[in-house]
Amino acid sequence: MKRCNQKLVWLTCMAVASAAACTTPAQGQARPFSGSDVQTIYQRLLGQINQIPVFDNHGHPGFPDDSDVDAMTISPDSALPFRLRENNPEMAGAAKALFGYPYNDLSPDHLRWLVQRKAEEKKRLGNSYFSHVLDLVGIETAVANRVAMSDYLPATRFRWVFFVDSFLFPFDNRQLASRNPDQKLNLPLQEKILRRNIVRAHFEQLPADLSGYLSFITRILEENQKAGGVGIKFEIAYFRSLHFDDPSQQRATAIYTKYHAGGVPSAEEYRDFQNFIFRYLLREAGQLHLPVQIHTAVGGGDYFSLQDGNVLNLENVLRDPRYENVTFILLHGGFPYERQAIWLAAKKNVYLDSSLMGIFLYPDEFKKSLRVWLETFPNKIVFGSDAFPLGDAIGAEENYWLATQSASVALTEALAEMVSAGEVNEDQALHMAHAYLHDTASHLYGSVH
Ligand SMILES: [Zn+2]
Repeated sequence: MKRCNQKLVWLTCMAVASAAACTTPAQGQARPFSGSDVQTIYQRLLGQINQIPVFDNHGHPGFPDDSDVDAMTISPDSALPFRLRENNPEMAGAAKALFGYPYNDLSPDHLRWLVQRKAEEKKRLGNSYFSHVLDLVGIETAVANRVAMSDYLPATRFRWVFFVDSFLFPFDNRQLASRNPDQKLNLPLQEKILRRNIVRAHFEQLPADLSGYLSFITRILEENQKAGGVGIKFEIAYFRSLHFDDPSQQRATAIYTKYHAGGVPSAEEYRDFQNFIFRYLLREAGQLHLPVQIHTAVGGGDYFSLQDGNVLNLENVLRDPRYENVTFILLHGGFPYERQAIWLAAKKNVYLDSSLMGIFLYPDEFKKSLRVWLETFPNKIVFGSDAFPLGDAIGAEENYWLATQSASVALTEALAEMVSAGEVNEDQALHMAHAYLHDTASHLYGSVH
């Protein structure tokens, strides 16, 4: 009964607070349609929104020949959505804005001009080449989700989030790899990263028991944090379901003991072991104050399972009070389930990132997703580019441009409609824009800015 009364008081307070905050232009209930003033409001907001220095929550900056750009890859013959193809005509606009590309098409001859121009810029700018790209697109700080960092991505502008999936694959992976060509392509890459970490820890092979393996994981996390790592990232949705049960340490110990030196675990044994390690990594990330990024959208490659990768599979973990000290950032907003995903952000330690969505979708469609998010939990959403090199000519540079341009247009469009419909006033709209484009993500990583 007491709780009910408190809830009633809270609801009344909310109503009073929002009525007071929305003095202009709303008078009472919001209107069902945007008014004829929406374009004027859009123009007014756009100038101010374009001035906001952007914090990019997620991307893979690097040159196309840099194998540390990502921990995995997609088969060159897998289907890419239209806008991500190298012949997307918008890329000519991006190259024009960034490099003075003098052509309107992307013919092989003209792309050779672009490759040449980039090589000259690289020579001229040295290690500040990518910082210069950030300057041109208006990004102040960019999270670099990479296997390892590089000298050409200075810590003043780029912050490192490192991959941890490889810890989930310490056994014989032949059975897993045989499931489809994408697994066959990517599991050896996970094994390579795990081996790299084993060498870093000065081990010849995997530790003899589970407690040794867990200490090894913690040690690598701590070392990466000391080397500048500000968060961890899971791409595990490419490999298995995002639903993680909670097996006992005893069960994980038995599986590790049985298979660490050889032998092929059953699918059930491997899954249980991964469930345990996933949760161990969350606990450690919480202890070390490393935010946890999880890929939660449809993924590249022809075998990505939409059902297994559905963001809602994570709900038991996200709403588990034991992980309240873990900051979860759901990359790509669970797309194409982003409208359901926003309700996961009700949990105070769960955030949604819009990277990739803003490249998959054209601004007019992206606007609709952003508007739902802004109308639900505007302080729990962050901008991300997911910039990555598409090929030798069209690279992370053009993707940075496309992602920031799309986001500012879509965001401004969504906010202008909300202002016009009397949902928020312009001050509130700008506050939301600052939160989404910069402030919220910047706080998550303890940014110096
Ligand atoms: Zn990514």
